[in-house]
Amino acid sequence: MSDKIEHVKCLIIGSGPAGYTAAVYAARANLAPVLYTGPEPGGQLMITTDVENYPGYPDGVMGPQMMDDFRKQAERFGTQVRMEKIVKVDFSGPVHKAWGESGKEIHSDSIIISTGASAKWLGIPSEQRLMNKGVSACAVCDGFFFKGLEVAIVGAGDTAAEEASYLAKLCPRVHMLVRRDEMRASKIMQKRVMDTENITIHWNTETDEILGEEEVEGVRVINNKTGEKSVIPVKGFFVAIGHKPNTGIFKDWLKMDETGYLITQPDSSRTDVEGVFASGDAQDKIYRQAVTAAGTGCMAALDAERYLTEKEII
Ligand code: NDP
Repeated sequence: MSDKIEHVKCLIIGSGPAGYTAAVYAARANLAPVLYTGPEPGGQLMITTDVENYPGYPDGVMGPQMMDDFRKQAERFGTQVRMEKIVKVDFSGPVHKAWGESGKEIHSDSIIISTGASAKWLGIPSEQRLMNKGVSACAVCDGFFFKGLEVAIVGAGDTAAEEASYLAKLCPRVHMLVRRDEMRASKIMQKRVMDTENITIHWNTETDEILGEEEVEGVRVINNKTGEKSVIPVKGFFVAIGHKPNTGIFKDWLKMDETGYLITQPDSSRTDVEGVFASGDAQDKIYRQAVTAAGTGCMAALDAERYLTEKEII
C-alpha cells in the first residue's frame, strides 16, 4: 500500500455534535477513529451564541465553547482529529474509500457521515454582489460589524428569531422580513422577538433587492399582499432562511431524499450501503437539534461497532 493510502477501522466525516459524539463512542470502543472536520470545524454551533437547551449546562453555554468541549472529549479517548475536508468517496467495494483535500486516500472498514447542513441563500443577484459587504448568513459571526447601525434579517424560523434577538442587543433597530402573516419559530422565540422593543416585524414582506454598490445601503422590499414596494435604509442584511444538507459527495453512492437528506433505515443509522452510517443534520430534517444530532452520532458509532464485530473485523 502506498504512503498515500491509510487503512482505518472507522472514518468519521464531519465535526458537529454528531461527529464528535460518534468519535467519543467509537474511540471508547477501541475503533481508533479518524475524524475529518470538514471546512467548518465544529459545524453550525460555531456560529451560535448561547445554547440554552442542551442538557447538562444549567446556565447555558456558548456554541464554540461547547464544540471545543466535544472535541477535547473525543481526543481524550484517542480520536485523531484532522482539520481537513473529505472531497470524494467510493463506496463500491467492501472497503470504503475516501479522499482528503491533500490527496490522501483512506480505506475504512466503516464510515460515519456527520457532515451536517449549511445555510441557504435567497438567490438574488444583489445578495451575491454584496456578500461580505454587508450581506451575511451569520449574525453571530458578523453582527459586531454592525454595532450601532440599522439592519434587516430575512426569515421567520427559530434561527431568524434567535439572530434577530442577538442583533437587537447591538443595533438600534432590527427589521425582520417575514414572507407570511405568521412566523414558523417556536412560540417562546416569537414572544421574545415580539417583546423586543427595537425589532420591527414586517409581515407579508419579501426582499426585492438589496441596495448599494460597494456596501449595503438599504433593502427594497415588496408587500406580497398589496404589491407595494418600499425601501428600508439598513447597513446590514442577514439571511436566516434555513439550511441544506452537505451531502453532495455522496450523491452517486447513497440513497437520499429529493432535498439531499440521507435516508437511514428505521431505528438505525444504517444507510443503504453496508458499513456506512449517517448521523446528525445530514440525515435529519425534522429535529435538527444539537442534542438529537449527538444522539444519532452515538447510534452511528454503536451501529458501526456492531457491524465491525459481525464482520469479525474487530
Ligand atoms: P426553518 O426551515 O425552520 O425556517 C426557515 C424560515 O425561512 C421560514 O420561516 C421560511 O418561511 C423562511 N424562508 C425560507 N425561504 C425563504 C425565502 N426565500 N424568503 C423569505 N423567507 C424564507 O429554518 P431555521 O434555520 O430557522 O430552523 C431550522 C431548525 O432548527 C428548526 O427545526 C428550528 O426549530 C431549529 N432551531 C432551533 C433553535 C433553538 O431551539 N434554539 C435555534 C435555531 C434553529 P416560511 O415559514 O414561510 O416557510
